[in-house]
Amino acid sequence: MKILLTDKNIEELEELVLSLGEKKFRAKQILSALTQGQDISNMTALSKDFRVKLGEIADGVGVYIAEKFLSRDGTVKYLFALRDGHVVEGVLMRYKYGNTLCVSTQVGCRMGCKFCASGIGGLIRNLSAGEIIGQILAVNLDQGGTIEDRAVTNVVLMGSGEPLDNYDEVKRFLELCRDVYKISWRNLSLSTSGLADKVKKLADDGIHVTLTISLHAPFDEAREKLMPVNKAYDIKALMESARYYFNKTGRRVVFEYAMIKGVNDRREDAIKLAELLSGFPTHLNLIPLNYVKEHGALTPTSKEGIERFMASLEGMGVSVTKRRTMGSDIAGACGQLRRRYLEDKRD
Ligand code: SF4
Repeated sequence: MKILLTDKNIEELEELVLSLGEKKFRAKQILSALTQGQDISNMTALSKDFRVKLGEIADGVGVYIAEKFLSRDGTVKYLFALRDGHVVEGVLMRYKYGNTLCVSTQVGCRMGCKFCASGIGGLIRNLSAGEIIGQILAVNLDQGGTIEDRAVTNVVLMGSGEPLDNYDEVKRFLELCRDVYKISWRNLSLSTSGLADKVKKLADDGIHVTLTISLHAPFDEAREKLMPVNKAYDIKALMESARYYFNKTGRRVVFEYAMIKGVNDRREDAIKLAELLSGFPTHLNLIPLNYVKEHGALTPTSKEGIERFMASLEGMGVSVTKRRTMGSDIAGACGQLRRRYLEDKRD
């Protein structure tokens, strides 16, 4: 497989152009072209000969939009094709304060969460840092912006894959965002299913992004059934890692909680949740469960049930909001678009 230019930082790009007999400043020209989503053949600031030479050993963005679905609420769901033919998903959501792009970090996922379509086929492979960057560049280009124009203002690592299960490439992605592509860590959010040791490592490595933890149940027994990762890191270990992250980074930790009828929406769940989230700055997002047909037994809590649950948490002093479901008319939950695509190809 050829080199992927988006995997490289500026020093590495400089080394590459020097090794091809070009001047160092060409690296900056390449970078500027990459931020505009250009592939090597379109990098007209470079001579034709150099483009040919570079194209023989390298690819530019390496992520292409295979399919795109526009929702009535303005949400855009993307299916990205990678160089080896695998596909991953992304979603662009429009908020008052800007556009948030949700990107994938792995093809498939091995965490096996029971409410998720991404993990159904297991893990296929990790994405490289450049392949995660490429999703942002492809959407920026599609939306008519560059990184500087910031068509994508915020990025969340919440698509397919467990980011902390691909730790080294995700860390490199975050460093490339900050150092090369000028995306501030304030605008980046990483979502984990609960790899507590890696949460601590993130804090120790000085990575100060917004950390989002998928909690989904306040009792080990229920959480274990929903999220097998809980067998390796129980709720006590997870909450300890969240406090550790806050103490080291000063960043408030966000918790996600998909509301599932009869599973995690009882009064005793609210009481336990309030207890877990007390004592350090946290925020809780309640999410109406996205129905995944392969996991038919899990159904969403009613709208009234969510309101009741939320009111009871507020009464106990929890900072809580209900997240609206976006783009539900186009593809539903994370991973469903890829599965539908793979099923269509099989037919
Ligand atoms: S919810 Fe996230 S961690 Fe869990 S299986 Fe799906 S992609 Fe993996």
